[in-house]
Amino acid sequence: MSSTAAESRLTAAIEAVTRAARATRRIQSQLTVIRQLVKEDRSPVTTADYAAQALVIATLCQHLGEVRLIGEEESRSLREPENAALRRAVVEAVGAEMPSLDEEAVLGYIDQGSHDGSAGSYWTLDPVDGTKGFLRGGQYAISLALVEEGELRLGVLGCPALPVDPGRPLDRPDPVGTLFHASRGGGAWSRPLEGAEDARLPLIRDDGRSPLRICESVESGHSRHDLSARVVEALGGLPPLRLDSQCKYGVVARGQAHAYLRLPTRPGYVERVWDHAAGVLVATEAGMRVSDIDGRPLDFGHGALLSANRGVVCSVPRFHGPLVEAIARLMA
Ligand code: AMP
Ligand code: MG
Repeated sequence: MSSTAAESRLTAAIEAVTRAARATRRIQSQLTVIRQLVKEDRSPVTTADYAAQALVIATLCQHLGEVRLIGEEESRSLREPENAALRRAVVEAVGAEMPSLDEEAVLGYIDQGSHDGSAGSYWTLDPVDGTKGFLRGGQYAISLALVEEGELRLGVLGCPALPVDPGRPLDRPDPVGTLFHASRGGGAWSRPLEGAEDARLPLIRDDGRSPLRICESVESGHSRHDLSARVVEALGGLPPLRLDSQCKYGVVARGQAHAYLRLPTRPGYVERVWDHAAGVLVATEAGMRVSDIDGRPLDFGHGALLSANRGVVCSVPRFHGPLVEAIARLMA
């Protein structure tokens, strides 16, 4: 890819995520009740998920023409007559950012996220990663990545409730938010979600001495808390930080935790690409080692699913080997 093509993709991706972040923040602050549905897998989907997916895809198309994208959402339920109120709320939320889009255009853009990942190059999007965090007023992320021939090329992670200042508490939603981005070989960067300049994340902020601090999901149904507690104890670590979404990759990339563990809660669960792609590139470009719990590299060459992997260990190099080893030993 020429450097100009790479730059225009990055510019488009940042604008797309920033627009979606503004819309999700507005939805969170203006509505007392956030409209939502329950999907077939029993997970919630809200106005924000749909509006963010439409805005990201519309913005990418505006800048880059047609795009192939694997997104988490589809419009089928939204088109049903009983969901008219939710549909209107989605169109209105999109309209606050892109007023020219009518209902058909919004639904059409949502459905452009149905690529199966069979092409050599595709985008992947989680429009609101950590929907449960979003509904709880906790952390959530808009996560967009470009995968080429199974390799992560570009990742943009919008974290609307994550303070830019790593010294601020993570459990209080921030009014500004943080954006991380990374391009393969180009380092990891962060900035406030609106307005300010990029700052490069220093490669690895590990002082080499401090005791292990991991972060993990708030949801014990998404990552085993009992096992992580034993792993931390075995390695003499501190109590885990718990937060929703791929913000965890950003938190590790900027040195607030040494590692992010995602330990499978049941044998058959396969991780989705959109739950990891952007975060993994940000963390890797900041010098972290990322693998599955067996120490294998995450393989983004299987479409929507990380079917060759189980779980995730993202860590500063000092703790990566010991974490993989302790997980294997304590799971046996
Ligand atoms: P987190 O905010 O880290 O808890 O992760 C949220 C993501 O977890 C959602 O986007 C879901 O795709 C994903 N998820 C849903 N069920 C599971 C599960 N059983 N194990 C791991 N991740 C899951
Ligand atoms: Mg998700």
